[in-house]
Amino acid sequence: MSEWTPKQSADLYRIADWGEGFFSVSPEGNLRVHPRGAATGMNSERSVLTRSIDLPNLVGELERRGLRRPMLIRFSDVLDARIEHLAGCFSEAITENEYGGRWRGVYPIKVNQQAHVVEEVVGFGAQFGVGLEAGSKPELLIALALLDTEDALLVCNGYKDRAYVETALLAQRLGRNPVIVVDRYSDIDLIVKASASLGIRPHVGLRARLSTVGAGRWIESSGERSKFGLSADELVRAIDRLRAEGMLDCVELLHFHIGSQITSIRAHKEALREAMRIYVGLHRLGAESLHLLDVGGGLGVDYLGGGTDDPSSMNYSTQEYANDIIFAASQACADAGIPEPDIITESGRAMVAHHSVLVFDVIGVNRDQSPAKPPACSEKDHAVLHALKEAVDTISPENLSERYHDLLHGRDEAASLFSLGYLDLPGRAKSETLFHAGCRRIGEILAQLGGTPEGFEDLNALLTDTYFGNFSIFQSAPDAWAVKQVFPVMPIHRLDEEPSRNGTIVDLTCDSDGRLDRFIGEHEEQPTLRLHPWNGSPYFLAVFLVGAYQEILGDLHNLFGDTDAVHVRLDDEGGYEVEHLVEGDAIAEVLSYVEYDKRALSERVRRTVEKALRAGRISLEDSALLRKRYDQGLHEYTYLSDEG
Ligand SMILES: *Cc1c(COP(=O)(O)O)cnc(C)c1O
Repeated sequence: MSEWTPKQSADLYRIADWGEGFFSVSPEGNLRVHPRGAATGMNSERSVLTRSIDLPNLVGELERRGLRRPMLIRFSDVLDARIEHLAGCFSEAITENEYGGRWRGVYPIKVNQQAHVVEEVVGFGAQFGVGLEAGSKPELLIALALLDTEDALLVCNGYKDRAYVETALLAQRLGRNPVIVVDRYSDIDLIVKASASLGIRPHVGLRARLSTVGAGRWIESSGERSKFGLSADELVRAIDRLRAEGMLDCVELLHFHIGSQITSIRAHKEALREAMRIYVGLHRLGAESLHLLDVGGGLGVDYLGGGTDDPSSMNYSTQEYANDIIFAASQACADAGIPEPDIITESGRAMVAHHSVLVFDVIGVNRDQSPAKPPACSEKDHAVLHALKEAVDTISPENLSERYHDLLHGRDEAASLFSLGYLDLPGRAKSETLFHAGCRRIGEILAQLGGTPEGFEDLNALLTDTYFGNFSIFQSAPDAWAVKQVFPVMPIHRLDEEPSRNGTIVDLTCDSDGRLDRFIGEHEEQPTLRLHPWNGSPYFLAVFLVGAYQEILGDLHNLFGDTDAVHVRLDDEGGYEVEHLVEGDAIAEVLSYVEYDKRALSERVRRTVEKALRAGRISLEDSALLRKRYDQGLHEYTYLSDEG
């Protein structure tokens, strides 16, 4: 029918740029997931595609298993591939530089605390010695129970109290390797006391507060005003204090963290240079047992696929990052004549972002309904309508700007005349129809000329369709709202068909902020997304790269709860296995979070119904139906269903 090819869709949505080899478009126009990534390795050419799962088919089969829309699908193999990739990049950099230390990455639990995710990281990461990082007491308790990899590190960050420190120390008795990081100077007291009373010598880390400031959205977490880390003065005092306590040989690790989603490699390089100066400086002060350099998180994810230092992108690869770290450490140690430390990364975002995909359906579209042909004007019509009609009829490529201003003026004039009583409601309606017809004509000419020149931005918004998505941004992609993060969004089927409409996507909440209006454009982000005309049959879109931070930051705005979630893994027989199925919230559950008791609610409704019955306002049958609907509703999903 159409000449549009799946390849054109792949190009339009720039899958190769942000997908890291995990996604492609099938000849049938379906989105495919390649859970093991590109077969040739992610640094070389991405020509050989590995085994794939057809995403719309998967969604269909999951629905038949009882999963509801929206659903979050986690691909365990993608998570594994990302861990392997990070480990591989460091292994390559270490070999290349003949580096004397090892890579001993840890996964920061806060990035995605879901039990199945942490279990997968620990289980698959064991072969690379991947450990865990805890930033709070609850996270420490998770790490303590889950991390059983021999020799893997358990890095203990964050605010601490006596109980936190004691728990971490006691973990040593279980054969774990906790490193208690002094994030604030006062942590030293806690560590000294707890260690004396338990008789356990701690592994101590020192967190440095660098003056290097990250680049990107989270720069506040570094620099002089950051919450954590010791200043140079505090570092020197810490060494003196620990020496006085006879604990200088407990200092094993130097840590820094300049923020998340660092978009520019320069910030990493500068931080490393400063950190290595500190590392060498501490050695010179006598901390010769230092042997671990923890470079924190911050390894970016290229959500935009642009390879730039835009806040949603990054201008370097994981390999470049690894090379720079190993090179900087090796140089500084060679110059100072000290042994090369093992390198710990706390990359969370880069490990888990890619493995989760949120799939939702479109439940309706608001479309610009203006007729292709503008309505005629008669003598009875107000002069303002004649002026608008004249403007529409005389639009040509030469006078677009002038006519657009005429249209805006006519529309506003009509609105004032209406308010003042000089134009009736049908007249006002006609002014709007004429205005839209004119805008459409200008839009068509602009499209032929290619692009939207300055001054016409609002016109684009007028001509945009609004797609209503069955999901909540606040629950499933909160950073799209909170920090204007761009996530890749695209249809997962009909990709052999031209997406002929321009749309934005709004969610189910009543909040005007509940919309997606930042999409991957050709060079940078753009406010609309090319979408297919909605024909009433299920139309599925997906938000990609939502595995990091989104779930736990998600909230219950308008009481939309957790979505259903599944973990899918390729099996050995050419198919896949649904490993875990985590049911999302029922309405009664989200109501209980805000202290409503479902039985009490139901009982109140019953009593009101009883009153209405006695007053003769409702029939017995209707009263039974109402109570049935109410009680059923309490057990339903918080999102919409098209059943029945
Ligand atoms: C949040 C955090 C991380 C994770 O950062 P990413 O950018 O997600 O890799 C690592 N270390 C510390 C100390 C953190 O606070």
